[in-house]
Amino acid sequence: MSHPTPAADVAAGRYPTATSVEDFARNLADVRARIAAAAERVGRDPADVRLLPVSKTVPGERIRLAVAAGCRELGENKVQEAARKHRELADLDVAWSVIGHLQTNKARDVAAFAAEFQALDSLRVAEALDRRLQAAGRPLDVYVQVNTSAEESKFGLEPAAVPDFLAELPRYSALRVRGFMTLAVFSDDEERVRACFRVLRDVRDRARDVDPDAVGPGDLSMGMSGDYETAVEEGATCVRVGQAIFGARATPDSLYWPGTVASDDGPVP
Ligand SMILES: *Cc1c(COP(=O)(O)O)cnc(C)c1O
Repeated sequence: MSHPTPAADVAAGRYPTATSVEDFARNLADVRARIAAAAERVGRDPADVRLLPVSKTVPGERIRLAVAAGCRELGENKVQEAARKHRELADLDVAWSVIGHLQTNKARDVAAFAAEFQALDSLRVAEALDRRLQAAGRPLDVYVQVNTSAEESKFGLEPAAVPDFLAELPRYSALRVRGFMTLAVFSDDEERVRACFRVLRDVRDRARDVDPDAVGPGDLSMGMSGDYETAVEEGATCVRVGQAIFGARATPDSLYWPGTVASDDGPVP
């Protein structure tokens, strides 16, 4: 019996660190080509899929190379890290998307600099954000995060709770609902991953049936480095890709997704 290779080591081999504009240009072209191929497999227009590069843990100097290679928007999981990079890189033309769980006491920071927030999962956060945004006199695009893997993840609304949640959101008029976001289960079993993406699409379709106005354009933000092609096949309109563009992360994913089985611990049995 061989020892299982930690997923972080596997990722390090699969995703070498990008250290030049050429590296980034090549990685971006590769990811875009894979998105296009996945879209075409299911008869979708590749132009309907937005690539959101995720720069968490990546230092400012390397982000500058990615921007030079064509990144115009960047996703960050943690608000403080995003706010710091927004300040450090203020000379660049980049839109920042916050894609991780938010605590109400950080709502002010999001309202100050973020172009988008993809992890809305409570009315308390909606209220806090709306208050700060009203004060700042600006709207914010938001995605409702849904827990499509049930037992695996701590964040996101249960699918059954989504309709009632959406019905409350018009009270927060600075929030512009774009659609839904999810993290699939961390698994090598593609069918389990695909099932999560189908749950999100289903949530969107049902919510649309109840009230088309409540879901905005009904975008689906789903798919990361390990599963974005599957997500595109299942209807993703935004994929959030970090490691396949920037290179493997040294930090364990459990830092960002408490409650999930970290991918460095190997696949979920
Ligand atoms: C880090 C992160 C991603 C990207 O993950 P990669 O494995 O780097 O592609 C996507 N979504 C969220 C919410 C993240 O925190």
